[in-house]
Amino acid sequence: MNDNVPTSATRKPDLILLRDPATAPAPLVDGFQRRITYLRLSVTDRCDLRCSYCMPERMTFLPKKEVLSLEELYDLATGFIARGVTKIRITGGEPLVRRDIIDLFSALGRRLGHDLAELTLTTNGTQLATHAEALAKAGVKRVNVSLDTLDRERFAQLTRRDSLPQVLDGIAAAKAAGLKVKLNAVALKGVNADELPDLIAWAHGEGHDVTLIEVMPLGDVEEERLDQYLPLDDVRARLEQRWTLKDIAFSTGGPARYVEVAETGGRLGFITPHTGNFCSGCNRLRVTATGQLYPCLGGGERVDLRAALRSDDPETRLAEALNEALRIKPEKHHFRMDARGAAPALARHMSMTGG
Ligand code: SAM
Ligand code: SF4
Repeated sequence: MNDNVPTSATRKPDLILLRDPATAPAPLVDGFQRRITYLRLSVTDRCDLRCSYCMPERMTFLPKKEVLSLEELYDLATGFIARGVTKIRITGGEPLVRRDIIDLFSALGRRLGHDLAELTLTTNGTQLATHAEALAKAGVKRVNVSLDTLDRERFAQLTRRDSLPQVLDGIAAAKAAGLKVKLNAVALKGVNADELPDLIAWAHGEGHDVTLIEVMPLGDVEEERLDQYLPLDDVRARLEQRWTLKDIAFSTGGPARYVEVAETGGRLGFITPHTGNFCSGCNRLRVTATGQLYPCLGGGERVDLRAALRSDDPETRLAEALNEALRIKPEKHHFRMDARGAAPALARHMSMTGG
């Protein structure tokens, strides 16, 4: 996609900027009165790492023709923005391995300050050194970088690729480009539990917030999920032996609950899908790179937006599909982490919905 390619921004009048409030499309409100303002848009299922909790080494990726084009992704985002979505996070797979992905950031970035309040990215950081400047130029202000360990050997084992130096370069480049970096670390029993305090200390020293995440049973990954699962209550108790954690009201609108670490002055978030209240304030929808909308990360419900987009009347069909998604968005997820040897709660890998 480049400036010469017609997108809905150049092809037709921008719906939201010109619309009459009396005839504006209805905002996205689900059956539990949760207002949806946040879209997580996956732009690829492919990845250059193979994190052991996310996907198997021999992952089967989708044929490229099934994946939405950059123009379709832009049009889809426009459909959500018209219904009141103000924040879009680009995710994957690894979004920065998609060719010309910066064009999508640039196109969406032009809407910032108009009908879009925030455009962000979740990345594994391997390609961030190349793209940090361009992302900042496109209007991205914050990026989430996933990093579970600072130990090179451990990183190579966990991700099945020896890419820690690239990731650290990427994080440094993002900081140098003026992007606010938040690190996401999945807490994994027997893998990084012993290292989390040092990881947090390093990140806070660099000026980065950290969010810890409990592993979720999504997709077959060749490893026993229960062996990976580390409840964050245990992690917090351990951190409190070293530091003073002060609960704070800070929120990014997501499920994380934050504390401030008195000794480092940094912020630390906990995402606890198993032990905490994850769902009541859910304000998001997730769309895969093939245009499948999953109203719940922990549910199998799905609506096909690609069919709507590729139909004769995309605007009407998209509106209908979004209404259907709101109707079926469940009150809460139902996955559990208590059955050894159990099949994954959902066959879908996290790399499809992007977390
Ligand atoms: N590749 C990018 C990255 O790693 O940041 C974006 C996609 S990745 C699927 C998004 C987030 O999901 C990462 O922070 C990753 O650690 C997390 N994740 C992947 N599989 C998970 C699982 N089974 N349980 C919990 N978090 C998971
Ligand atoms: Fe790739 Fe992100 Fe999954 Fe790791 S967590 S394999 S980086 S998609």
